[in-house]
Amino acid sequence: MVQKLANKVAIVTGGTSGIGLAAAKRFATEGARVYVTGRRKAELDAAVAAIGRSAVGVQADVSRLADLDALYAQVKAQAGRIDVLYANAGGGSFLPLGQITEQQYQDTFDRNVKGVLFTVQKALPLLADGASIILAGSTAGIEGTAAFSVYAASKAAVRAFARNWILDLKDRKIRVNTLSPGAIRTPGLVDLAGPDAAQQQALVDFLAAKIPLGRVGDPDEIAKAAVFLASDDASFVNGAELFADGGQAQI
Ligand code: NAP
Repeated sequence: MVQKLANKVAIVTGGTSGIGLAAAKRFATEGARVYVTGRRKAELDAAVAAIGRSAVGVQADVSRLADLDALYAQVKAQAGRIDVLYANAGGGSFLPLGQITEQQYQDTFDRNVKGVLFTVQKALPLLADGASIILAGSTAGIEGTAAFSVYAASKAAVRAFARNWILDLKDRKIRVNTLSPGAIRTPGLVDLAGPDAAQQQALVDFLAAKIPLGRVGDPDEIAKAAVFLASDDASFVNGAELFADGGQAQI
């Protein structure tokens, strides 16, 4: 079978858990040499082992510019270029307006907005002409969700980045798309409900009831969409927002 990402060099930030880990596995199966990042060393090592031989783990916090410099210095020395960049690292937390703290704002925007911006900007010297950049959006970016406004605003910012960057990058034929999942069963999602397993399941059931397909998604269902955007199958898809949400935000 033809591999869709044969000989490509791919980076997945936040590639140690959930959607990023699933995407890194798919990219590797499709023939890419994959770099994954995350802040926690033990999770990083476990992810590299799970992804397999082609994977390289680099401990890096995407909101720290020095970490990004070190990441790209390593990629430059070892691979020389980047063909696929999935700026996936991110997350959020619940706080209603009235209780939002400076810390929540900074943590959310540092990861989801500053992190995405500098993950991409600092990669530019290494990005091959015709490369594919995938930004992690969310259905939250176009929906209202109680107590989730800071996260939603950060994802709306990400979506705006894609629209504008395709103009800044047009001379290099680099494609930039936003991949926006709905509710996907990942550690990042269930942890929103706290550590209690029953509360986590209650959150999943609540979210599933709002989705036309009647269930939350699996990380691999986002990974398959990421392979599409990363590959030549999406050669004329640029600046788009691809929702993989079971219909959640489409009704
Ligand atoms: P997850 O299971 O919590 O995984 C997040 C990954 O990002 C981990 O590898 C984590 O590793 C890494 N990460 C977090 N902050 C980081 C930072 N500052 N620097 C580097 N790495 C960082 O999350 P997920 O649910 O797969 O979500 C992945 C992306 O999809 C996020 O952008 C999220 O907002 C988006 N999304 C998720 C859903 C959903 O339902 N799950 C829906 C819509 C959008 P460390 O903690 O070790 O750094």
